[in-house]
Amino acid sequence: MSGTELNEKDPGRVDPSEKDLADTWFTDGQRAFRRAVRDFFAADEVRKAIDALQDHAPREESGLIDVYRMLGERGWLAPAWPKEYGGQGLSPVEAGIVLEEMVLHGLPEDQRVLSIDTVGQFLLEVGTPEQRARHLPRLAAGEEIATVLFTEPHCGSDLAALRTRAVRDGDGWRLSGRKIFNQKSQFAEWALCAARTDDGPVKYHGITLFLLPLRSPGVVISPVWSMGDERFNEIVIEDVRLTAEHIVGQVHEGWQPINDMLLLERTGMDFQAKLRRWLDAVVEDARRTGRITEPAYAQRLVELDANLRAGRALAWSMVLAQVAGEPDPVASAAAKWFITQYSDEVVRLGSEVIGLDGLLSTWDGEAPDLGRLEAVYRQSPAHTLASGTSEVMLQIIAASGLHLFS
Ligand SMILES: Cc1cc2nc3c(=O)[nH]c(=O)nc-3n(C[C@H](O)[C@H](O)[C@H](O)COP(=O)(O)OP(=O)(O)OC[C@H]3O[C@@H](n4cnc5c(N)ncnc54)[C@H](O)[C@@H]3O)c2cc1C
Repeated sequence: MSGTELNEKDPGRVDPSEKDLADTWFTDGQRAFRRAVRDFFAADEVRKAIDALQDHAPREESGLIDVYRMLGERGWLAPAWPKEYGGQGLSPVEAGIVLEEMVLHGLPEDQRVLSIDTVGQFLLEVGTPEQRARHLPRLAAGEEIATVLFTEPHCGSDLAALRTRAVRDGDGWRLSGRKIFNQKSQFAEWALCAARTDDGPVKYHGITLFLLPLRSPGVVISPVWSMGDERFNEIVIEDVRLTAEHIVGQVHEGWQPINDMLLLERTGMDFQAKLRRWLDAVVEDARRTGRITEPAYAQRLVELDANLRAGRALAWSMVLAQVAGEPDPVASAAAKWFITQYSDEVVRLGSEVIGLDGLLSTWDGEAPDLGRLEAVYRQSPAHTLASGTSEVMLQIIAASGLHLFS
């Protein structure tokens, strides 16, 4: 199925909720694709499966997600990938539409961001034909999760300072080190792991990417809970033997693909959709409590709405830059920085609208809306850290946009 076919079947339907600054950029085929995706998410079976995910007790997480498999059956989990790897051969726009709709409908997006947008995309760009054939179809079908092992206990933003090391061992390598703040690794078969393979005068040289089988002896995964009850992991890797087939891209040359990939991931699309979902819930609460008519609340709601619309337009302009083959590191740093500045404000306003009950947590049977507001209050600070911190985004703008340091 292609966007064009969909458009021919359903040419003139206009959904007013699609009218937005960003939406004026889409083709009719892409709008029709969005409607098909929305119809998918409106189906009873899908809604129930998503509700069931949200009914988990705090600190309980699902592994493989059924709705991912349902999307995978349609080639929609990775719609921009070629058909031979389980995609639909569509463009980053259709991929962005699926991501946006997933988040708007409350489906967790992190597994997709890790497995498809990061690890899978790496394999598509710099993997061998064997690596692609082996991993991509299972990832695109939602039958397997892959994770990312970049951050270490002493280095996150300054990733080139990593200490995980792989040393030559005959025709292979021996990998040892510690990784932290990775997600879903307890469910994943494979992880993309950055390690130092060479020491030279320039720290950006000598980093190699490995596909690490996480069930290997020598890999120990332990939970590290965030204040938002989201599970991160610490992974200790001890002397795991890897071969040439585990190397992704060129030996010692991992730095450039890491940066290229982070740039593609950093559109702000997932963040803006999450904030839109949260703000819509706040507006509903404001309506229910009558606060929507109080000018102090109304004004803040309207301003947030305007800023989220601007953030959405920025996110979509980053996707369109990818389509044009002109991804812009400075503009995507600005998009990510801009939208995540509002996370805190949306949840703060939400808690003021609900009042003291909004402080009741998911653990409390009396909590309104199962304590979701209190949970997102604790989760929202992560927005300004994940995929590059706000300060690092500003550094990129300062250095490469304004050339302040040259
Ligand atoms: C939700 C979430 C998901 C994540 N998923 C993964 C994952 O799957 N895999 C993975 O490997 N990692 C993951 N991470 C880790 C993430 O990449 C790091 O948290 C991030 O890179 C920041 O690194 P750090 O936590 O070590 O903080 P640091 O780099 O130590 O930064 C601490 C503070 O100092 C500031 N700072 C650092 N350098 C500068 C500078 N040059 N100028 C000004 N200020 C600076 C930062 O902005 C920050 O406020 C995830 C993090 C989050 C929050």
